[in-house]
Amino acid sequence: MRAARVFIVSGPSGTGKTSLIQALLRSVTRLELSISYTTRPIRPQEEHGSDYCFVTPAAFQKMIKEEQLLEYAEVFGNFYGTSRHRVRRQLDAGKDVLLEIDWQGARQVRRAIPDSMGIFILPPNFRSLQERLRRRGQDDEQVIQRRISETLADLSHCGEYNYQLINDDFDRALERLRDIVRSVRAGGPEALIESDVQEHLSALMEEARHFR
Ligand code: 5GP
Repeated sequence: MRAARVFIVSGPSGTGKTSLIQALLRSVTRLELSISYTTRPIRPQEEHGSDYCFVTPAAFQKMIKEEQLLEYAEVFGNFYGTSRHRVRRQLDAGKDVLLEIDWQGARQVRRAIPDSMGIFILPPNFRSLQERLRRRGQDDEQVIQRRISETLADLSHCGEYNYQLINDDFDRALERLRDIVRSVRAGGPEALIESDVQEHLSALMEEARHFR
């Protein structure tokens, strides 16, 4: 039996990452999502245990101390982490595990599980993100600026991943995501950063520099 693998998916918020992952999980067998632990307050539409396991900062610190977490990081002022035990259980059951985590966590997982596969999802352009942030942030320019610099910081880690994917068209991006999973499972050669991705990344950075 082939060894189960860990797939890491990262990307700035607003790239449609979560919708892509949900569609992928529906269409690929033997692939399961790891439900993270977080200290972030629960949002109205969320469910404890299916979106996240929502815990107190004290409970999270205890998990760190007891080395229960495969990785953890502070993102937007809250802690997020992956249970070592849960991932191990999923892998032992022969399931590939998908972690939707940030670049800091991805680095820790790569160290702990060197054959994990990283996929970074890029937004199609900066303009759509800017519009979304302006609508959401309203008068608070500081919040908008902070999110923009966080997005830029996220993008700068894109090259640390095995695969990069531009979400300019949902169906195409989903197909590409499925191809990556198939290719990794088949033991295919690891992709290098593609030149169109490199160009896209430069264009995004350039667009962001002119953002006001
Ligand atoms: P949100 O609060 O919007 O659900 O997630 C915010 C960010 O936290 C996302 O970028 C997501 O990838 C990241 N994140 C979610 N779970 C984990 C986790 O277990 N570990 C790490 N390192 N990041 C996570």
